[in-house]
Amino acid sequence: MATFPDRGREQGKTFTKQLIIIVTGEYLHNVKLGTCESLYYTTYDQLKNWQVSGKDEFLKLDSGYRFRFPFPDEKNKIGDYDDYNRGWSITIPKGIFTMNHGKKFLRTDSDLNIKNAVPMGFYVDCPTTIKAYRWNNEGNESYEIVQQKFCTDEETGDPMLQTVFRCPYCGELARANVTEAKAISDYLSEQSKQIEKHDPQKAEYLIKIAITIINGYLIKEAI
Ligand SMILES: [Zn+2]
Repeated sequence: MATFPDRGREQGKTFTKQLIIIVTGEYLHNVKLGTCESLYYTTYDQLKNWQVSGKDEFLKLDSGYRFRFPFPDEKNKIGDYDDYNRGWSITIPKGIFTMNHGKKFLRTDSDLNIKNAVPMGFYVDCPTTIKAYRWNNEGNESYEIVQQKFCTDEETGDPMLQTVFRCPYCGELARANVTEAKAISDYLSEQSKQIEKHDPQKAEYLIKIAITIINGYLIKEAI
């Protein structure tokens, strides 16, 4: 359940009321899979391999559901993940992946540290779309790997488990097409080689992530 303050003016008096919105979850045999279209408590393969009835509506092609990305370090049971909103950060060369960015809400008092003034809140374009924001790390962009979606590829018409990325600044989500996924995977593999000697553990993790991304794009059997 989430609560949102709803401020308004009524009969000359300022009042604040609580607008209560009940967010219902997606359950299967009393196990919570996620909320709405976001099934953050199960990977696609976990649900597919679970021997229960009623799962096909979630697994079928173009169902609209997004599944937890199978992070290589996770061995959790279905429905038993601590961080439902987990994102694994990557920094990649600008241009190999594109998405439509949204807005970011800022407060003058807490986000900009402007004191001794009436606090104001306002929306700004995502910093990644503002050219002047990059005073360092020019040429690179950061995203988070969050989920996978079983859908028909727009270019080839083939069923695929596409990786969903999140912008860490504005929170927008977007899927990578085949070309983008391959470029990202190749880049992570190259990064892995470069750090292999001084950080073999991270190098191994990078390779596993790269392979997991690409595995999703091998043609899947539609349910
Ligand atoms: Zn953004």
